[in-house]
Amino acid sequence: MDRIVGEVSRLLAHARGVESASVFGLVRTVERMRGRPLTVKESAELPPGMFGLWRNGDDRDEVFYAPWVAAPDRTVAHELGHILLGHGGLPVEEAVRHTLPPEWHDMASFMLRQCGHDAGADEQLRQLERDAEGFASELCRRISGAGRARSARIRSHFNEIL
Ligand SMILES: [Zn+2]
Repeated sequence: MDRIVGEVSRLLAHARGVESASVFGLVRTVERMRGRPLTVKESAELPPGMFGLWRNGDDRDEVFYAPWVAAPDRTVAHELGHILLGHGGLPVEEAVRHTLPPEWHDMASFMLRQCGHDAGADEQLRQLERDAEGFASELCRRISGAGRARSARIRSHFNEIL
């Protein structure tokens, strides 16, 4: 978890101006850190049940999120986690995780194992998902914490005036 907190800190340290006020603002920061374009788009073409997806291209990164997700910034934060934690982006197992409901994961793992994916790889994959989720939680917590601190500062300023 320390490495995850460290990566969130590194991202926030690179943010300029208002970028750190939102996940979507931090997309520009990630772009600068990686020195290549990163586009984030809503996509109605993701398979049913898939929240988001990172496509790790030769010269650019693309993140897609489904139109129905309740919190797009949280979904995008999860994908930024995969990017900054150095995960591969869009291997077949990742797609399975994102596509199928949790109760199907064991069956999917079983079937992937039958196709030559071993249990170690499966556990590794679960760890990648946990890490990306940890990154998203930490990032969203730090962003909303900063927002609260700002409004607390404004409130105390008001109190001084009053
Ligand atoms: Zn993921």
